[in-house]
Amino acid sequence: MKEFGYQRATDVAGALAALDTHPGARFLGGGTNLVDLMKTGVERPAHLVDVRDVPLPGIEPTADGGLRIGATVTNSDLAAHPEVRRRYPALTQAVLAGASGQLRNMATVGGNLLQRTRCGYFTDVSKACNKRVPGSGCPAIEGEHHNHAVLGASAHCVAVHPSDMGVALAAFDAVVSYETQDGPGETPITEFYLPVGDTPHLETVLPPGALITGVTLPPAAVASRSRYRKVRERASFAFAIGSVAAALDIRDGVVREARVALGAVASRPWRARTAEQVLTGAAADAETFAAAAEAELAPARPLPHNRHKVPLLRNLVTAVLTELAEEAAR
Ligand code: SF4
Repeated sequence: MKEFGYQRATDVAGALAALDTHPGARFLGGGTNLVDLMKTGVERPAHLVDVRDVPLPGIEPTADGGLRIGATVTNSDLAAHPEVRRRYPALTQAVLAGASGQLRNMATVGGNLLQRTRCGYFTDVSKACNKRVPGSGCPAIEGEHHNHAVLGASAHCVAVHPSDMGVALAAFDAVVSYETQDGPGETPITEFYLPVGDTPHLETVLPPGALITGVTLPPAAVASRSRYRKVRERASFAFAIGSVAAALDIRDGVVREARVALGAVASRPWRARTAEQVLTGAAADAETFAAAAEAELAPARPLPHNRHKVPLLRNLVTAVLTELAEEAAR
């Protein structure tokens, strides 16, 4: 492991200044991904600025009825918060489906959004990888890709984003806030991750040196009837093969509002707007739910060894929507 400097920041201005002062520095939250990548040499920061003591808001109601979540809130505290559980249950379910209890106690909201792909070529510095070393190639396309992308990929990278939390946040139109030396900024999470294109090493719209300070969930009555379902290779602790966050508002047998987002299908949490269009205004029945899933996955371009993900996702979306409709009918 490369030698590195370490310091704790106690406020946002100090954190930004510390990063600016040390070329090659990185912010450290819970460290549950960054430290692993440092051990394997994928990440080689010269200096770490620990931001866990930076006073950011915990989880607070916003004036318009949403929730503001501080970036250093741990995944455990987010999942357990009574207002998150009551108003955005799919978010609690998504967070609890991620990692282990020990990791959730350390991992932060900001760090979760910035975690890197678990593509085996990316995490092995002896292999080529366009995301790690731009222009070196993407061996996953011809090699091991059973859990790689089926939507939105490119000839330069087919990795998937590993976050469960991000999928629920995408379904609920969360907004990411950050601070820079030039002032604050914010961006909807659905625009936070850059398209892969020919620059897979560029992952988010965050300006250089920016510190994520929080995530805001707008008010969304539909979110109170929501669900997150994750399929993985072992029940205890694994990244998703496919996942879905969905919410339905059904009145008189008709879908008035729908939210659907998919995980483990693309380089970012995938907001399923085509499915939502099919659902909105249609009869809340099995035929509609299957048509919505089918429409969303129509552009899927699986690789030879991940074709199973398309029917898996189709069935997953249909099943979760059916369960939400049955719940609404009770
Ligand atoms: Fe690297 Fe992306 Fe290819 Fe994986 S899929 S080897 S992360 S370029």
